[in-house]
Amino acid sequence: MECPRCKSHHIRKNGKQRGKQNYICADCARQFIEYHNQKGYSNEIKRECLEM
Ligand SMILES: [Zn+2]
Repeated sequence: MECPRCKSHHIRKNGKQRGKQNYICADCARQFIEYHNQKGYSNEIKRECLEM
């Protein structure tokens, strides 16, 4: 698990949103939802980020 913005591994859990684990980067404060490194970012994750 690493930050999608700064690639830091200094990640903290930040509660859950719609049943998905939320994380926050301790270095740049970027918030993101748990993702899987399969084919990069899916459209679904992009959309959820925009809704936040
Ligand atoms: Zn970061």
